[in-house]
Amino acid sequence: MQRRKFIKNTLTGLPLILLTPTLLASCGKTDDDITPNGKTVHVIGAGVSGLAAAKKLKEQGFTIMILEAQEKVGGRLRTDRSLGVAFDEGASWIHGTNGNPITSLAQQAGMQTFPTDDESLLSYDIGGLARNNTVYSDAEDEFYAILETLMNSGNANQSFETVFNSLYPAYTNDRLWKFFLSTYLTFDTGDLNRLSSLLYDEGETFGDDERISANGYDAIPNYLATGLNIQFNQKVTKIDYSGAKVKITHNENESEADYVIITVPLGVLKANIIQFIPALPAAKQNAIQKVGMNCVNKFLLIWDTAFWDDVQYIAYTPEARDKFNYFVNVKKFHPTVNALMTFAYADYGRQTEIMTDAEIIDEIMLHLKDIYGSNIPNPSNMLRTKWQSNENSLGAYSYTAVGTEMRHFDDLAESVNDKLFFAGEHTEVDYFSTVHGAYLSGLREADKITDLQ
Ligand SMILES: Cc1cc2nc3c(=O)[nH]c(=O)nc-3n(C[C@H](O)[C@H](O)[C@H](O)COP(=O)(O)OP(=O)(O)OC[C@H]3O[C@@H](n4cnc5c(N)ncnc54)[C@H](O)[C@@H]3O)c2cc1C
Repeated sequence: MQRRKFIKNTLTGLPLILLTPTLLASCGKTDDDITPNGKTVHVIGAGVSGLAAAKKLKEQGFTIMILEAQEKVGGRLRTDRSLGVAFDEGASWIHGTNGNPITSLAQQAGMQTFPTDDESLLSYDIGGLARNNTVYSDAEDEFYAILETLMNSGNANQSFETVFNSLYPAYTNDRLWKFFLSTYLTFDTGDLNRLSSLLYDEGETFGDDERISANGYDAIPNYLATGLNIQFNQKVTKIDYSGAKVKITHNENESEADYVIITVPLGVLKANIIQFIPALPAAKQNAIQKVGMNCVNKFLLIWDTAFWDDVQYIAYTPEARDKFNYFVNVKKFHPTVNALMTFAYADYGRQTEIMTDAEIIDEIMLHLKDIYGSNIPNPSNMLRTKWQSNENSLGAYSYTAVGTEMRHFDDLAESVNDKLFFAGEHTEVDYFSTVHGAYLSGLREADKITDLQ
């Protein structure tokens, strides 16, 4: 469960090494090398899963069209550079670089990365009291020990929160424990009152260090998209697979294909934004309902000068859980930029989406002023995300909710009538909720279609 231990498991003391574009690998086949095989595949969604599938199928001779609801590629790999620094709205980290396909893809795409050093952290309690390192790390060790065994007391009908509170009532209102539960668990999974008490620790991991994108994760979708036929601003609303060809309705248009790969996020499937004719099999509909979709929002704040500690992470432990309790010091990998990135998760994350920018800044500044004093200035600018209300995502990523069984991820991946294929992070039982899971799911579905020929 390294992903869930992303603070704990990163290597310390690594030098600042940015992977450079000089490591660029070959870009695959050119159009002249490809012999068309006469079959058409339409891919719904130009996130990393859809792009990976499309690129691989194109190289196999399939005629590809990607239908994307938004105006650019990337989906949950979007980067906003409007403040002069790359703010990744979705994924920031490569979780475990050893053997992770995103490691080499990042090199090919020219995505520069920075090793995050999780020991480079200072923790503050309310009142700005610096927490003793030993107190912090002892509690952290105990927290991970509990995570390793709590599932033995879990059951299919109870949430993580219910079981944890019954076993460890003394920790329920402890601010440091609330921080761990929020930043180490909710961030990587989902709302603790909905998270499965049996399956909160599922999923495979890649080892080694974690790296954060420095110049923007969108380098990867931009790289994968090169040379692909992508139709933007095309929102798919109906897929009719009752005939020999699959008919796809997008905006006012209808198009046809031999095969369709659906990569829209789980939140979009849950909201029935796409009508399927005939209806999807019961097992898939059930899985769509049972697997959870969480909410994580990210906030980038910029100042003229930095007033915070020269460490990679600043932890703050307020009474409220899931609320601006963890700050990434962007200055560590962008030395000329005075910026912090912070987060809101679960229900508080959803609540931020109806707050004004001024309200958000007030709340964040309350925490920072408590640590650094009331004289620190307000940020000159802020960028923020609203993943829950984003109609092309309706949440951040999938997780094992109460009622989820691991077979549901396989049901989400199951093809229908050898015509409809499903990719996306939520279809990858071993690596759901990650960029690498999404990428691998796209390759998997491309192989399934190729194997049918
Ligand atoms: C805040 C946040 C932080 C994250 N942090 C990390 C991290 O640090 N590391 C990590 O590994 N992973 C992280 N993830 C998860 C990772 O970003 C995703 O798992 C991955 O990008 C999903 O790719 P995908 O192709 O499955 O879906 P998407 O990228 O969502 O692609 C789906 C595409 O479908 C399009 N679409 C939706 N509806 C329609 C429609 N009706 N018609 C046509 N197109 C449609 C969307 O616009 C989108 O482009 C994070 C995600 C978020 C949101």
